[in-house]
Amino acid sequence: MNERVTLATTGLSSAPALEYPFQAPRPDGSVVEVAPGVLWARMGMPLALNHINVWLLRGDDGWTIVDTGLAIDETRALWERIVAEHLDGAPVRAVVCTHFHYDHAGLASWMTERFGVPLYMSLGEFLMMRMFSDTSVTTPQPEDRQFIARSGMPEERAARLFDALQRDPFLPPRLARFRRLRGGDVLTIGPRRWKVIIGEGHSPEHVCLYSAQDRLLIGGDQLLPRITSNVMVNAFEPDGNPLAQWFDSLDRLERCAHDTLVLPSHQGVFRGLHLRVRQLREHHRQQLEEVLRIVGRDGDSTAYDVMLALYPRLHDPEQDLLALGETAAHLAWLCDRGALERRLEKGDTFRYKVTQAAGEEDTHW
Ligand SMILES: [Zn+2]
Repeated sequence: MNERVTLATTGLSSAPALEYPFQAPRPDGSVVEVAPGVLWARMGMPLALNHINVWLLRGDDGWTIVDTGLAIDETRALWERIVAEHLDGAPVRAVVCTHFHYDHAGLASWMTERFGVPLYMSLGEFLMMRMFSDTSVTTPQPEDRQFIARSGMPEERAARLFDALQRDPFLPPRLARFRRLRGGDVLTIGPRRWKVIIGEGHSPEHVCLYSAQDRLLIGGDQLLPRITSNVMVNAFEPDGNPLAQWFDSLDRLERCAHDTLVLPSHQGVFRGLHLRVRQLREHHRQQLEEVLRIVGRDGDSTAYDVMLALYPRLHDPEQDLLALGETAAHLAWLCDRGALERRLEKGDTFRYKVTQAAGEEDTHW
């Protein structure tokens, strides 16, 4: 029996799977070299997601660090240790942040000052970081209250959510300047040319770095191997369609070579980029179908109703925010496609209903 026949007939055992060629470093200042001059370190986080991966790229005259970890003393101590033990005496030359989220950019200010180096980010991420570093942003504005009220969330639950937001201990740092990265830019670091591929949907202008010659992708939060990144509608852009942007980003990332080694921000370094892109599309396709099923044709459903049906086990206000934003992203995508319609009811609440057209057209997701 030749191999092809075996694969075709053995069902589950032949199902393709992601490959994890490296054991992850411990979050204690250890590093793993995943390619010549590319070091993987891991920073612990006191959160449900308990770590973030960070990368060190060896250049001709020093190192470029990609992502920083949370702004906590433990992370600062780990950086001091990594720099003392693993850089062969060469200096840090630059810090790149894939996006503004506090686990990625939390120490951007400290690191650029500590090492006297520039920060590279996209404009969209830099401006978001500036916006959210202002504590007044966490004070709910009328637009924030309207966004939540229109979702149908009961007032008491919304109040708990706003209260939690105001106590968020992890604000991004405040930086006065940066160097801009744009899609298609190339960063030459040592022997490698890293091309910037922009991802959208999880954050506004997320930087991924791709070395075509070595088939390496620093994927940030755009391609995580085992969890799906949060794609959410935000109160500051209530009519956005971030899921459409997320799908577009997957199309861009899918152009990377099939045997690319993906260096994600969480979980393990893996091969199987095309499979993972398919899995992520499939995940959202199933969510979209589920949302259509939940909403139905009676025209009563609010985003809050759909959220409760999709995520029945929410137990803290921050989860509420993520779940509501993610639900809203799927509703927005379906409205944009004409599969759902939304109308503003008295009481200022959006109600959703499946349209007659839904299911008639060939939906290519
Ligand atoms: Zn993120």
